[in-house]
Amino acid sequence: MRPDPHTANSSKCGLPRNISTLSKSLSPFQLVGELGSIGVVLELSTPIKYVKRVGERIAAGLSERGVETVEDLLYHLPFRYEDRLNPRPMAELVAGSMASVIGEVRGAALLKTRSGPIFEMTLGQGLGTVKCMWFHGTYLQNRFHAGQMVAVYGKLEPSRSAMAASAIAGQGAVSGRFKMIQPQFEILPEPGATGPDAEFAMLEMGRIVPVYESLGGTTPWGSKLTSKWMRRVVWSIFEELVESEANKPGAPGLASETWVPETLPAAMLKRLHLPSRLEALKAVHFPEAGTPMVELMSSATPAHKRLIFEELFYLELGLELKRRRMRERIGTSFATGSSVREAIKQVLPFHPTTAQKRVLGEIVADMRRAQPMRRLLQGDVGSGKTIVAMQAAIVAIENGAQVALMAPTEILATQHYLSARKLLGEVLSPSTGRPYKVALLTGSLDPATKRQTQGRIMRGEAQFIIGTHALQEDKVDFANLGLVIVDEQHRFGVQQRFKLMKKPDSEGVASDPDVLSMTATPIPRTLALTLYGDLDVSVIDEMPPGRTPIITRRTTDERAGDVWDFVRKQVAQGRQAYLVYPVIEGSKDDQPELDFPHDEEPVSESASKRVSKSAAKTAPKKKSTKVEKLFPAAKVKLRSATEMYDELRTGALGGLRLGLLHGRLSADDKEVTMARFKRGEIDVLVATTVIEVGVDVANASVMVIDHAERFGLAQMHQLRGRVGRGAAKSYCILMTGSNVTPQADARLDALVATQNGFELAELDLQQRGPGEFFGTKQTGLPEFRVANLLRDRAALELAKKEAERFAARPDPAIPPVEITAVWDRLKQQWQRRYGLVEA
Ligand code: ADP
Ligand code: MG
Repeated sequence: MRPDPHTANSSKCGLPRNISTLSKSLSPFQLVGELGSIGVVLELSTPIKYVKRVGERIAAGLSERGVETVEDLLYHLPFRYEDRLNPRPMAELVAGSMASVIGEVRGAALLKTRSGPIFEMTLGQGLGTVKCMWFHGTYLQNRFHAGQMVAVYGKLEPSRSAMAASAIAGQGAVSGRFKMIQPQFEILPEPGATGPDAEFAMLEMGRIVPVYESLGGTTPWGSKLTSKWMRRVVWSIFEELVESEANKPGAPGLASETWVPETLPAAMLKRLHLPSRLEALKAVHFPEAGTPMVELMSSATPAHKRLIFEELFYLELGLELKRRRMRERIGTSFATGSSVREAIKQVLPFHPTTAQKRVLGEIVADMRRAQPMRRLLQGDVGSGKTIVAMQAAIVAIENGAQVALMAPTEILATQHYLSARKLLGEVLSPSTGRPYKVALLTGSLDPATKRQTQGRIMRGEAQFIIGTHALQEDKVDFANLGLVIVDEQHRFGVQQRFKLMKKPDSEGVASDPDVLSMTATPIPRTLALTLYGDLDVSVIDEMPPGRTPIITRRTTDERAGDVWDFVRKQVAQGRQAYLVYPVIEGSKDDQPELDFPHDEEPVSESASKRVSKSAAKTAPKKKSTKVEKLFPAAKVKLRSATEMYDELRTGALGGLRLGLLHGRLSADDKEVTMARFKRGEIDVLVATTVIEVGVDVANASVMVIDHAERFGLAQMHQLRGRVGRGAAKSYCILMTGSNVTPQADARLDALVATQNGFELAELDLQQRGPGEFFGTKQTGLPEFRVANLLRDRAALELAKKEAERFAARPDPAIPPVEITAVWDRLKQQWQRRYGLVEA
């Protein structure tokens, strides 16, 4: 923790002091807590083990899934619903879709096949039938008997007998004859049932029924925690809550004493047309008859909307508060007089684009303020962020401050160092009349040089310090650090934003340096709002002039010969090329530089086909190719940078000057190779993704990505950004091996179709999901209980707007006691859910 006079006395989660003291006397949560200990009445914070049908044993299992309290369980929402009030007649069903069907059991049998036992059960409804099949379904043998009502859910496929019949009749599909492979099923209560089955029959039948994703545990007698179990438990909770509610005085509302405390101000709910928390929770678990199924299935009912909004509102409110707290800290106010402006101008090698001017304006406005800057600069590869950063650096340096620039790799740090030297080294600072002093500090410097550089930093002799995270790790003491620039911010991890600090001055006051984070990975808006919601954002949305669009083409390795011919032609015209490979050397575990997950193998459908009777009959010699298709990694050997460097040098690219670059070379070797490529002494650079970020050689006009099916979308976009940086026409060739999954196919097509980084980022987000978006799992991303970033963009925007509004000046219609409750809830939410206690 840093000393901070403004917040030293405030609560741990960073609430303004006045607010947290105010809450002491009034929190409804505390009230509930104290009253709750008197009796054994159920409330939201009650440990789940006290709930009927749960108990110690199940509770222990649930706790592994993060379900500790009644509230946690209530926020485990159904992931789909079945309309068992108006079930669709089989005659209306359409093959190819997911469907839930209710019917009576007509027959069941266990079939022994060569590839294992298959359990078949036929469900009927009038003339319609659905034949359900479970592979290795021995365990189902005694579950069904004729006449039983069963609900199944799965993908409807035309049954073979139906297809044969329609072929004979020469007409379309015979209606009402289907099959389902491995459907989910639920046996419905019998008319004469007794005990809990009878008591809860109304939960299973004649209503819209919630279906839950299993929480994974088992009951003491070893059966799974099914949807049936969830329904009964949740239903009982509501019954008990309502009962205890009835015994409480006072009207329900945010600030009143109630067992399901409202978490949002009444005025806000009214304005946004959202139901109360209790209403919403009830309605998502047990929707009223008539609730549109489409809305339920897409989480778009008012009840869903309310719970989603609630979750996102508290996230955004926390971020907003962090932002505001940062603003209250002491920063440096930089002056931008005429000499500073002159200094900026003299380093500019070209006219900045309108976008560059605009973002520099935004950055400089921040720097002039006495509050520390926290700004994220987004700009696609090649949009010209570096020069903007250099200009910001000059503002700080001309004000007598030091600037640290952190890059994620040594190559990039070195490159920044060289371009800074080039830009700044040849001009004189108007304020000192002397050249700017630029220093490089990376992990691989020899200890003596490192110590020497650290000394220069400490004494304030180095003004612009460029380095890798060595800058953070080695506890470098800066004499007067005024600005930190973080290049490719996301590569440092979200939580680890920066730790560089200025030393306290003689009065012991440590002011925060300004921080400018840069990223060339266009971040989809939803992620930006959640991960970087506490930062201000600037976007360079325009490319420097004179760029011709990069021509992107797909090809396969069978046509590699053509690709090498093309590379030769380009080199003959004086251009240079990159060849990128997914691995350094051949073996499979040798993939340090592949930082994206592999596509899921398309096992499910074909795997089930393999064990089906028809597949068992296929010719045995075809079998091995099938396995290869299922598990491409098992057989396919990847071409690697090292091997291809050797092969091409003496083969297809013989006579050209080839260089090899990958992460396992020493820093010196990397630097030498990079410098030679830059000087044009290497024609073709064979590399891994080490060249992904930042490398800037304008004469390179060809980027060949081999095994393109193996690369992530963002990664290929970055790689493509290495070319097209000069005026020459540039090309990106995506060469694939033989096993291209549908997802890989979509990625490659998208790259061919567009060069717009934001469009590609959206697709990437859809394909990989928020957790994997940046290539490796980010610890900083909150786990949502209800919200879904892929789906709830509009809700997120609304939540942000409302959070800003609330933090700035809550609606006068909201009584103080409700405002207090919101801050209390925030505190609880952030501590428990996101673990983000410190700002
Ligand atoms: P990135 O945003 O990917 O870091 P760079 O800052 O490396 O992009 O810029 C890409 C290339 O464009 C560099 O060669 C840079 O010199 C050049 N460049 C940047 N801004 C301009 C401009 N306004 N006019 C012409 N060239 C520019
Ligand atoms: Mg850059």
